[in-house]
Amino acid sequence: MENLAMPSRPTHSPPYPADGASPHRDAERAPVLLLDLDGVLVDTRPVMESAWRRVQEDHGLDVPFEEYARHLGRPFTEIMSRLDLVEVEKIRHTYEKASTDFSHLARQFDGTAEVLHSLAAADWRLGVVTSKPLDRADPLLSRLGVSFATVRTPDGVGRGKPAPDPILLALVDLGADPSDALYVGDMAVDQEAAHRAGVSYVHAGWGYGRPVGPAPVIAASPADLLRLLVTGPFLEGSLL
Ligand SMILES: [Mg+2]
Repeated sequence: MENLAMPSRPTHSPPYPADGASPHRDAERAPVLLLDLDGVLVDTRPVMESAWRRVQEDHGLDVPFEEYARHLGRPFTEIMSRLDLVEVEKIRHTYEKASTDFSHLARQFDGTAEVLHSLAAADWRLGVVTSKPLDRADPLLSRLGVSFATVRTPDGVGRGKPAPDPILLALVDLGADPSDALYVGDMAVDQEAAHRAGVSYVHAGWGYGRPVGPAPVIAASPADLLRLLVTGPFLEGSLL
């Protein structure tokens, strides 16, 4: 674990109106960092792989985990549809039960909690936007020991990723503009959701997927993400 410098408070300037009206700086416009959970905050791949193996066994499916994993980031129902699986509720029941049984296999990525604590100390507002249901997301987030101002899951209203809905709803929760926010994900659906929500995107290079072109900013590690946020292009007066 390398030492992480404590960042200074970001100097983010709001976009001023082009018509010459007086710029209005909202005191609540501290920058917002929204993060995906699986593959960004927590390494849950061993959990998912074990749970899917039980689905294969219990339901006699020959869909390999690698095929399931190609669609990670989307809501479970959407993944089932893409895999042409029809007994969705039965499979979901097996998968959710197994995910709970194997939850002890989840691991934090090195440095994740430290980065979040550093950003919170620098007045960043933190939130989570995940396709994992709240009852399984909540215990994993609790282990990080970080206070998130919002957690958006498929349990709420709206469409799942790659639709922009959960990111936009998180911004509503925080009273934040898209231009004040940045989303960190690890799958192409995360990149698409951020783009459609109008927020900046950083790809977590330590996660499970590859970004699609045009190439986004990529953070190689949680510590690298912190460096990008406190010294990189996101503090030059705009998150974009
Ligand atoms: Mg992910």
